[in-house]
Amino acid sequence: MRVELSVVVPMFNEEAVLPLFVERLRPVLDRIGATYEVVAVDDGSGDLTAATLQRMKRTWPELRVLRLRTNSGHQAAISAGLVAARGDWMVTIDADLQDPPEVIAEMLDVGRRERVDVIYGVRTDRSTDTAFKRGTAKLFYRTMRRISGVDAPVDAGDFRMMSRATVDAVNALPSHGRVIRLVVPTLGFPSASVGYRRDERAAGSSKYPLGKMLRLTLDSITGFSQAPLRFATWFGLSGFVLAFAMLVLAVVRKLEGDAVSGWPSTVVIVAGFAGLQLLCLGILGEYVGRIHASLQGRPTYYVAYDSLIADQGGRSGPTSGEALLPSETATRHPSAEF
Ligand code: UDP
Ligand code: MG
Repeated sequence: MRVELSVVVPMFNEEAVLPLFVERLRPVLDRIGATYEVVAVDDGSGDLTAATLQRMKRTWPELRVLRLRTNSGHQAAISAGLVAARGDWMVTIDADLQDPPEVIAEMLDVGRRERVDVIYGVRTDRSTDTAFKRGTAKLFYRTMRRISGVDAPVDAGDFRMMSRATVDAVNALPSHGRVIRLVVPTLGFPSASVGYRRDERAAGSSKYPLGKMLRLTLDSITGFSQAPLRFATWFGLSGFVLAFAMLVLAVVRKLEGDAVSGWPSTVVIVAGFAGLQLLCLGILGEYVGRIHASLQGRPTYYVAYDSLIADQGGRSGPTSGEALLPSETATRHPSAEF
């Protein structure tokens, strides 16, 4: 059977919101006038998410369950779903009802009517997000636009519809440290956007603690911009000029016979430059770490189970080159990541 629409939903410990989500999503999809599948990616949940999904599958044949072996993160979970999804169109949506499922119908409409490949869901109203989330998000989008040159739509998260061609292009790229919301605009496919109101999380709590937010930010910066490396160069250069000026000043002072005074400024300068050097080393380390991780060639996630394969009587496990078994990974040439 040809699948016209795949809905990819990453889920991490979402037992609280799952029934509410399905209750709202299913009627929208049943009425959408296209054959569909829902690819629920269970990102290594430790709660009842997996059991609930299995139960729901019995009465909802279009539901397909993909389980990752460990919690691999939001972006990796979406990546796993996009590799497995079979649709002509694919939409990625959060499970917490912050992205209204009703908008999917509108996106499909726009995609077909305007003949575009990507339809971004753009948050027109974020008043339900906390001030901290809004502030950091604004800083993130502004900074990324400026330093990466990626023309990512402001306030577009991971609620978006993509054509098969777009998803094939995304899947072909290395998945390590992938930030899908920045990768997609760089591909340059024709796009449109649909505005929506970002609602409050319907139940449960955020699965994006500060640590994960920082990881996403670091991946975004180091993955899409070399500006920080240039900062380091400029810091170093201006430090050198400053040090030279200080040297001249010290010589002049010495000649004037005023050599001892000024040790506080010396301490400040030494400490300041030590700090700057460590900062620059840290920046370098981030990039080197990225190179190192992709050289390992380890997949960013392992698919432990795919209900589609299990239902067909096959061995459930990796469904594509993106999610290799560990033994297969070892034989893959490292440079394949680049
Ligand atoms: N999520 C995931 N793996 C993670 C963290 C989050 O699959 O490690 C999923 C989560 O279940 C939800 C979506 O990603 O469907 C967005 O997460 P959340 O709503 O907690 O983030 P927030 O809206 O608070 O930024
Ligand atoms: Mg959320």
